[in-house]
Amino acid sequence: MCQSCHVRPVSTYGTPTRRRDGRAHSGTTGTPGRGSGLTTHAPQTAQSVTLPASLDEAVAALTAMPAAVPVAGGTDLMAAVNKGQLRPAGLVGLSRINEIRGWQYQDGHALLGAGLTHARMGRPDFAALIPALAAASRAAGPPQIRNAGTLGGNVVTAAPTGDSLPVLAALEADLVVLGPLGNREIPVSHLLAGRDLLAPGELVAFVRVPLLHAPQVFLKATGRTGPARATASVAVVLDPARRGVRCAVGAVAPMPLRPLEAERWIASLVDWDNDRGLAPEALAAFGEYVAAACIPDPPGDEVLPPAVLHLRRTVAALARRALGRALS
Ligand SMILES: Cc1cc2nc3c(=O)[nH]c(=O)nc-3n(C[C@H](O)[C@H](O)[C@H](O)COP(=O)(O)OP(=O)(O)OC[C@H]3O[C@@H](n4cnc5c(N)ncnc54)[C@H](O)[C@@H]3O)c2cc1C
Repeated sequence: MCQSCHVRPVSTYGTPTRRRDGRAHSGTTGTPGRGSGLTTHAPQTAQSVTLPASLDEAVAALTAMPAAVPVAGGTDLMAAVNKGQLRPAGLVGLSRINEIRGWQYQDGHALLGAGLTHARMGRPDFAALIPALAAASRAAGPPQIRNAGTLGGNVVTAAPTGDSLPVLAALEADLVVLGPLGNREIPVSHLLAGRDLLAPGELVAFVRVPLLHAPQVFLKATGRTGPARATASVAVVLDPARRGVRCAVGAVAPMPLRPLEAERWIASLVDWDNDRGLAPEALAAFGEYVAAACIPDPPGDEVLPPAVLHLRRTVAALARRALGRALS
């Protein structure tokens, strides 16, 4: 945690995909061009494509061919192939694995299949379960991307603009990972922070999310109208059982950020036993607190560049609105 600003980062720069061996990019060419052996116009195709019907078969296929990479919707992976940034020796397609395309309930949690598409998560029945994740899914790209792109792909790509990531960070979700040595669980935040990466042969099978039965809000700002990547996003989740407010800010850093002090301060002002409403001044102060924690003032006499100041104001507005909606 950054002690000076009391913000907990939950991801870092580093490997574009969260694998210990960087396998998904083992065939990368760096800057394509002369001497790279690839051009952006003629990406080499994978030598083998396997389409397993179960998670066990997928793990076996990845174990048998360590140079192969898993592909779900292909919206991130194939974009990298088309740009000549990735040359996988083989592909293990996950789209036929029915067991990861839905969800089930387990001990007060939802066990979400990694193969759930954004389109599926955006539907009303899912929104009744995990409203903020449904809102993030509805905001993730144009319809053709939402129809193909999956939760697992969003998490493993771990792009700063990944819309599900601040929601999963605020929910303190865990990943259920399946590999040749069996199952293990990793907090999503550990994968995003690079503290615990996927090992060779491992797949994200499920995302375990607590069911809080309380309002949750995801808001996203983009630089233009229509579907676009986030310039900033905020997830706010109420946890009445623990009398907590959890907030995560996406896209302003390589990782979703948790403004922990701001969370604790605002939770102490909420009247959890009554209507939970807060004065507009308190909502505004929360927005400013979150924004300043995630985009702190520079040291000394320096001032923030106008674009960064604008971003900070955007985060403040998103956080204020998201909390206001969650408490209304
Ligand atoms: C035009 C366009 C617009 C987009 N807009 C947005 C947007 O607004 N918001 C947003 O968040 N994203 C956006 N994206 C990014 C992308 O659609 C999402 O990240 C999507 O969720 C990726 O899922 P996928 O199934 O397509 O992943 P894939 O491309 O199949 O895989 C991505 C990576 O994850 C790995 N992987 C996939 N599934 C698993 C698994 N179960 N276990 C282990 N590894 C796995 C793959 O090996 C690969 O390294 C956009 C993409 C495009 C092309």
